[in-house]
Amino acid sequence: MPAPKPFPDVFRLVTLVTVQCSGGCPAPYGAGEPPLFDTIDDAISILRDMCWVFVGDRALCPACAAAADCALTGHQWEPWTADTVEGLACTQRTCRHCAEQEYQPPLADLEVIVRTMRDVDGDPDA
Ligand SMILES: [Zn+2]
Ligand SMILES: [Zn+2]
Repeated sequence: MPAPKPFPDVFRLVTLVTVQCSGGCPAPYGAGEPPLFDTIDDAISILRDMCWVFVGDRALCPACAAAADCALTGHQWEPWTADTVEGLACTQRTCRHCAEQEYQPPLADLEVIVRTMRDVDGDPDA
């Protein structure tokens, strides 16, 4: 005869459902607690209302779904606009679908220029 469990009317084992984006991002987990759902059907229904996409056995958060779309069909760029990066003039455009940003000159080149300018100026923080 098994020993009686302590607090039989206090603690109960329950099963809840969590979700993880298949796109490799941390969604929906930020710094807070992960959302819990009563059933997988509940999770799918609620997440669909939040613009998650379920394809095959993959679940994609809205950002990863948009990025997957753009990877297949190309970005939907807004027009180029003037911008500055670390005080350097450049142009920038944003994809209206996935929010990807592109710089001209490319961000990597701008960072090299900024680093070179700091080296020339002898900035001790560089
Ligand atoms: Zn994601
Ligand atoms: Zn895009």
